[in-house]
Amino acid sequence: MSLVRHTLPGVSVSTESRPDAIPPERVPALPSRRTPALSPSRAGDYKQCPLLYRYRAIDRLPEVPTQAQVKGTVVHAALENLFDMPAGLRVPESAEMLVDGAWGALCEESPELRDLVPDDQVDRFLSDAHQLIATYYTLENPTAFTPESCELRVEVDLRADGEDDNGVLLRGFVDRIDVAPDGRVRVVDYKTGRSPGESFESRALFQMKFYALAIYRLRGVVPARLQLLYLADGQSLTYTPDKAELERFAKTLKAIWKAIQKAGATGEFPPKKSRMCQWCDHKAHCPEFGGTVLPYPGWPTAPGETSHAE
Ligand code: SF4
Repeated sequence: MSLVRHTLPGVSVSTESRPDAIPPERVPALPSRRTPALSPSRAGDYKQCPLLYRYRAIDRLPEVPTQAQVKGTVVHAALENLFDMPAGLRVPESAEMLVDGAWGALCEESPELRDLVPDDQVDRFLSDAHQLIATYYTLENPTAFTPESCELRVEVDLRADGEDDNGVLLRGFVDRIDVAPDGRVRVVDYKTGRSPGESFESRALFQMKFYALAIYRLRGVVPARLQLLYLADGQSLTYTPDKAELERFAKTLKAIWKAIQKAGATGEFPPKKSRMCQWCDHKAHCPEFGGTVLPYPGWPTAPGETSHAE
C-alpha cells in the first residue's frame, strides 16, 4: 500500500491538517446522548487526545464551528447536489449557483450562522467557496461520469466477525462512490482544506482505510481506489488498499475500541497535548491549559450493553 500524491502545478502545500468541515454527525449540533459507534473522526480524536474524544463523543459538548468548517459544509452540499443534476448540466456555473443555494439553505436551518459570517463578510465567504469549486473542476470533470451514490451513510458491525466479542460498530459518511462498468469501486472524499504535509498524512490514510474497510465489509469488494480531493490547493491523495491490509486494519480498530471501552469504564481519558490543541474548543476544561476536567457523566449506556461511542 502507498499513498500517492498528485499535485496541481503552481499551488503550495501546507504542513499540517485541520478539521475542514463540520462533521456530519454534528450538523446540526446534537446535545442529546445517543447510541455510540466508531467513526473515523472519533477514532482520530481518541488517538489525538483521549480527553478530546470524551468531550466530543461522551459528554457531547457543543462546539462553535469555524467559518472554514461552514464553508466546507456548503461546498460539500453543493457538490452533492451537483450530481443530482443531469451530467450535461454539471458545469461550473451550476455548481456556483448550488453553493449560493446551499449557503441560503444552511442559514435557514441554522440562523445563528449569520453571526459567524456577518453580512459584510458574506461576499468574501461565497467567493472563497466558489474558488474551491473552481479548483474542484481542475481535478475532475463531473459531466463525464455519474456516481453510484453521494453522501452515503455507512454502518458496519465488525462484531459479526465471530472471532471475539470485542467487535466494533463502524459508522461514517462517504462523500461519493463511483462504480466503473467493470465493477471496480472508487471512493472519493472532498477536503476543503489544504492537503496535509507528509508528517500529517497518517490521519488521511487512517480515514481512507476506514472507508475502504467499511465498503469491503458491506459489499465484499475491496475498493480499487480511494481518493481524497483537496480543494484548497488542488492536490489529491490516492490509496490502493488490499484485502490483507484491511483485515489487519480491522484489528487495529478493534484495539482502539477496546482501549476506549476500558477508558469508558473507568472515566480515565487523559489529555494529550499537541499542536492540534490550537483548534480545540475545550481548553477551559483541560488541565493542560489550566482548566478543570468536568465530572465524568459515565458511559452512554449501562455496562454490559453492546453499544458504541461515536
Ligand atoms: S486542549 Fe489539547 S490536551 Fe486539552 S482536551 Fe483539547 S486536544 Fe486535549
